[in-house]
Amino acid sequence: MPHTLRLGWLYPKLMSTYGDRGNVICLQRRAQWRGLKVEIIPLDQSADAEVFTTVDLIVGGGAQDRQQELVMRDLQGAKAEALKHQLDQGTPGVFTCGAPQLLGHYYEPALGQRIEGLGLLDLISKHPGPEARRCIGNVVFEVVASPLKEALQTQVGAVPLVIGFENHGGRTYLQSVSPLGKVKTGYGNNGEDGYEGAFHQNTIATYAHGPLLPKNPFLADWLLKTALERKYQETITLEPLDDQLAEQARSSMLRRLGLAEAIS
Ligand code: GLN
Repeated sequence: MPHTLRLGWLYPKLMSTYGDRGNVICLQRRAQWRGLKVEIIPLDQSADAEVFTTVDLIVGGGAQDRQQELVMRDLQGAKAEALKHQLDQGTPGVFTCGAPQLLGHYYEPALGQRIEGLGLLDLISKHPGPEARRCIGNVVFEVVASPLKEALQTQVGAVPLVIGFENHGGRTYLQSVSPLGKVKTGYGNNGEDGYEGAFHQNTIATYAHGPLLPKNPFLADWLLKTALERKYQETITLEPLDDQLAEQARSSMLRRLGLAEAIS
């Protein structure tokens, strides 16, 4: 029997801006290329809290304020508790842009009322208003969160820079949660403090679309390995894949952004 992963996808129809669906496809393909089976489970209005407890790995993409508000209104009560419990217990996940905003304490949209979040991540997010400049462009950051940083070091022999594309109006301010990374170029969480994203248990929260995982395949493999090891309680060694195309794209972007010295 091949190992199987149940990949939960948060509100696929409402939260999938800027190609974030690519993160789901990337995880699915990289698993399949190693002979693993992946079932994709929508975690949305049609799913009850029970479904949230059955997944091994969770992906949440970005959304514009309106869609995000619809999600935040639906993701309440037993469903919210189930998701929070899963992530708090170490189910790995990757959450981009609007998704981390809803995992924090609250999000204040450009217009309208503050929306309460899940409170899983000790952070808050605020949009300074429709006239404020959006944070748009390529973003590159160095992973500083432990133990992710150490795990990547073991996995690929170095801590590679993460490359993404950001497009957000909201600004995120971390409280006690640890940052995912430190910005080399771009805005990151708020364009002020130099931090990018957040990391809690095995939850990666980031403003980097890209989509993130095809541009940074080492993160996809870390998520797969972590999910499989938690589920099967054994050491998993993933077969290496041919990532030459991704490597070329990474080098070309690093060169373009003046970070050629970081090319491995
Ligand atoms: N609504 C959020 C903002 O503008 C998220 C945007 C996104 O997910 N790309 O900050």
